[in-house]
Amino acid sequence: MTGAPATNEELTDLYRELILDHARSPRHFGRIQDPTHQADGINPLCGDKLKLYLTVDRSGRIEDTRFEGSGCAISVASASLLTDTVIGLPVKDAEAYFEVVTRRLTSGDEADDGLEIEKLKALDGVREFPSRVKCATLAWHALHAALNELAMPATTE
Ligand code: ZN
Repeated sequence: MTGAPATNEELTDLYRELILDHARSPRHFGRIQDPTHQADGINPLCGDKLKLYLTVDRSGRIEDTRFEGSGCAISVASASLLTDTVIGLPVKDAEAYFEVVTRRLTSGDEADDGLEIEKLKALDGVREFPSRVKCATLAWHALHAALNELAMPATTE
C-alpha cells in the first residue's frame, strides 16, 4: 500500500475483505493422510466443527497443517489464517501464537509478544460480537489440543 496511513474505517474494510476471502477460499483445506497430530474442535454455540491435522518433523517444526469441517465464515477464516500462520514454525512458536490470539480475542489485551500478527488482527473485530469470539478461537484451541496431544476434542464450552 502507498499513500497516507489507512484510517480505522479503511482498516476495518480491509480486514473484513480478508476474512471474507479466507472464508470463501480457505487455505490448506483438506486432510493429511498420516498426520503426527490431530484434534477436533467443536463450538456447539454456533455449530462450528473442524478437524485439524498437523505434520511435525523430527526437529519439532510444523511441516504442514490442514483442516476440514464446516462452520460459519469466521470459524473457517480463522482456521485458514491459522494454517497460513503456523506452517514452517517450530511447535513452541505456534503455541505462542495460540496464546496471543486467544488472549487478544478474550481479554482485549492487545500485546503481540513480538509476533507477526498483521493478518491475524483481522480477527480482532469479532470482539465487538461476544457470541462470535468462540468461532474465531475454535481453530486455535484445536491447534493447542493437537500439539499437546489432549485426548478430548477441543470445545469452546
Ligand atoms: Zn461460528
